[in-house]
Amino acid sequence: MSVPVSQMWTVASYVVRQKLARRTRYPLVLMLEPLFRCNLACAGCGKIQYPAHILKRQLSPEECFAAVDECGAPVVSIPGGEPLMHPEIDQIVAGLVARKKYIYLCTNALLLKEKIHLFQPSKYLTFSVHLDGEPEHHDLSVCREGGYDIAVEGIREALKLGFRVTTNTTLFDGADPKSVRAFFDEMMDLGIEGMMLSPGYSYDKAPDQQHFLGRARTRRLFRSILSNRDPKWRFNLSPLFLEFLMGKRDYPCTPWGMPTYNIFGWQKPCYLLQDGYADSFAELMQETEWNKYGTESGNLACANCMVHSGYEASAVDHTFSSLSGFYATVKATLFSRYADDDALNSLDDDDRSLHPPLVQIANVNETLQDMQV
Ligand code: SF4
Repeated sequence: MSVPVSQMWTVASYVVRQKLARRTRYPLVLMLEPLFRCNLACAGCGKIQYPAHILKRQLSPEECFAAVDECGAPVVSIPGGEPLMHPEIDQIVAGLVARKKYIYLCTNALLLKEKIHLFQPSKYLTFSVHLDGEPEHHDLSVCREGGYDIAVEGIREALKLGFRVTTNTTLFDGADPKSVRAFFDEMMDLGIEGMMLSPGYSYDKAPDQQHFLGRARTRRLFRSILSNRDPKWRFNLSPLFLEFLMGKRDYPCTPWGMPTYNIFGWQKPCYLLQDGYADSFAELMQETEWNKYGTESGNLACANCMVHSGYEASAVDHTFSSLSGFYATVKATLFSRYADDDALNSLDDDDRSLHPPLVQIANVNETLQDMQV
């Protein structure tokens, strides 16, 4: 089991309460971005490209708590930027633990060993370590040689101290399914709780625009990776979302399921697009024209999107919307092998486009030093 029973119960009872209250739009996970600055400059990231005066800014603990209280979601994901670079991240985490929120602190783990003394192990706190595959693939993805080894060292330290640890992996065009499957084996051998997966989304601020996946390629890639599963693999995701990635079911996007709050306010409509900001969560929910978004809307910005922040909440909602959704979830949990000969044969396809050469963005540390952060 990859998620503690208490967390599953908290999330399930929360969703059932929303259903009983007949709320059609409700938040499941708050994406709380306390800062945009980072100690990496990944080619697929749309954050580190902000100008220096934006990268210097950060949310205070009080601003974080106000957003969490206003939103009410039972789970808070803290991406960034790199949250461990926030000087008050320990106070933010402690305040959220006191509120009994299940926190996923998303980190590249470069600072994890150095800063882990700031935190106490808790069932409410999980370090979600960004690893995009085996060493060569991860280092390529984050444009930092040796990044994988440092992250794994951080994971080992966190596990030794009794913390919950998961990985989060974003897959881009050219990902090698065989290598991704070998990476899953390595992560399970490390002893982490579970793995999160998402296809990449094309940020218009991201420098690498050529290696994002379209929907058909996404389904093909995830079918190759997630069919014929090793029973020891554990995923920290809805099993129906995994079926969605494999092309076994379709969902509309529910961008309100994982709303984003950052230094600009409540981001419309989702973690990926920036069609303005609302001053309050209520304003976000009431004034966003939700029907303009999602693949089914015809919005070109959404045409190829299958990302976790848009579609996992859809899968969770399906689980609790009908007996058939609940049955499908139980079935997908109990029978998760997905034997598929075609997918097995596709592991040896060699028509995948190759990654571009490793791009070292050499001046990140100098830039951060210039900014005195
Ligand atoms: S489809 Fe993707 S980009 Fe569009 S609203 Fe949903 S999550 Fe955002």
